[in-house]
Amino acid sequence: MNVLELTALAVSEASIKERKCFACGGLPSTGKGEHIIPLWLQRSHKLFDKTIGLINGTRIPYRYLTVPCCEICNTGFLADIERAVQPNFMKGMITTNNEKLIMGRWLSKILLGLLVKETSLLYDRAQPTLGPIVRPSYIEELEHLHFILNSARKETTFHCIHGDYPFSIYSYLVRNESPAGKFDLSTNVFGQSVAIRIGELAVIFISDGGLQQDIVPKGPFSLLGATVSEYQFRELAARIHYKAALRDATHTYLTSESERNISIDQISVRPYSNQILKNGDMRVFRDWDEKVLSEVIEKYSLVNMTDIFDEDTGKCRTILIDENGKLLKASQYLKLPSG
Ligand SMILES: [Zn+2]
Repeated sequence: MNVLELTALAVSEASIKERKCFACGGLPSTGKGEHIIPLWLQRSHKLFDKTIGLINGTRIPYRYLTVPCCEICNTGFLADIERAVQPNFMKGMITTNNEKLIMGRWLSKILLGLLVKETSLLYDRAQPTLGPIVRPSYIEELEHLHFILNSARKETTFHCIHGDYPFSIYSYLVRNESPAGKFDLSTNVFGQSVAIRIGELAVIFISDGGLQQDIVPKGPFSLLGATVSEYQFRELAARIHYKAALRDATHTYLTSESERNISIDQISVRPYSNQILKNGDMRVFRDWDEKVLSEVIEKYSLVNMTDIFDEDTGKCRTILIDENGKLLKASQYLKLPSG
């Protein structure tokens, strides 16, 4: 099996348009397809009838959140990815490099699934001329996500510029304090980031070739690995989603494949806009704006922006650290939606 060929086929605009298997571009099974949020998770957290918001503002129940998938991928390597990740959530932490990769594959699957799903939905059903929520051509950029996902099919060696793997990943331990439940999911499909909390383990993954983690190795306020409240995790997720959306560069890769091994070499950072910063570096992230950050936190945490943005100082308030940079005990001014 040539995995890189399957990847190229799966991400082609034609495959996406024709609703082929999202993982290999082959003929999808006649069944429901692949559940983007897996059934084991829907079962354990009673998510079937709960809904997720899409870019066009509509909400869809998790039970209908599926993408076309063939039987071989569904029961083969995708099932392996599901099996491999569950002990991580039971353990409640990610410690080894291998666990990082296992989690990265699983979250790549979710992110890729969501993006493919968005392409199949019209932006506004009343105005079909507006086209799908995410245009199919966008999926062609998702080859990088496939590199991570498909490392589950065949032994893969990564040579990356910023770290061990071509993604950024931050994890936290969350102590549950409100009846909001033990499950939380948020995504920013344009920034290619996804944040998920299952029980006490909370993880934020960004398909950015490792750029964010290169610049901010320990995440917002260097809290990587800290024990936080679910409100504080929402703020961490919002900050990381926002940073992800500011990314203004991608990577070039050199790939090769043999019978037994795939080699993924990250060759260079390729800025989208050739803007030179004052220090002479190429711009990789657009400028951070505290007001926009406040809007993002408002969106992810359902708080009123006027409560968190300080017009006088131009700063967004935080519930993560105090003025000395010390982790705060959970504050609850960010209210979570129930359920
Ligand atoms: Zn397939």
